[in-house]
Amino acid sequence: MSASPVVGVLGLQGDSREHLRALSAAGADARLVRRPEELAAVHGLVLPGGESTVIDKLLRVFELRDPLVAAIAAGLPVYGSCAGMILLADRLLDGTADQQTLGGLDVTVRRNAFGRQVDSFETELELDGVTDRAWPARGPRGSEAPSGPVHAVFIRAPWVEDAGPGVQALGVVPSGPAAGRIVAVRAGNLLATSFHPEITGDTRVHRLFADVVRAA
Ligand code: GLN
Repeated sequence: MSASPVVGVLGLQGDSREHLRALSAAGADARLVRRPEELAAVHGLVLPGGESTVIDKLLRVFELRDPLVAAIAAGLPVYGSCAGMILLADRLLDGTADQQTLGGLDVTVRRNAFGRQVDSFETELELDGVTDRAWPARGPRGSEAPSGPVHAVFIRAPWVEDAGPGVQALGVVPSGPAAGRIVAVRAGNLLATSFHPEITGDTRVHRLFADVVRAA
């Protein structure tokens, strides 16, 4: 595959533009996906943060749900952040009565998991495959290489309550009331974070995903 994989960002609701910017900075050919033909043209897809119940409904309205479920089953690399993590989960706790996920990731995710006290918060966290990676492998010339922990922004975020044997936990909350909770996972071509790297200017998670897409 070319050095610039074509990576789509689901553009039905949520912070798609921030992901497009982060993917472009990570060396991907990034484009919005709103129609089945657009989905068929990408090598990987980002499911953005937003409101999972709304994205779920719109996926059906835009007739993207079935093709996306099929694409995930066929091995399409997908990265879900926050609401996107919820959409990738095989099992969901605290969803609304009629809420469906796409599934594919063998995890149980709890929606709005962080209680009222830490509803939204920021922390530094270590991420396997990200904070230890040689960087920037393909970064723009002259760009400063951030290293060390990721600044993770959680906004009414889910966490991974339980993960199947094929799922690798990449990062956990380091301290506080939710210490030890899994907030980043990878299983094959599927990647998910509870937090929003797309709004921090640190593109290492998007670089990791671009690498997954290139390798797929
Ligand atoms: N709480 C939202 C949901 O249920 C997710 C929040 C987010 O994506 N920042 O979908």
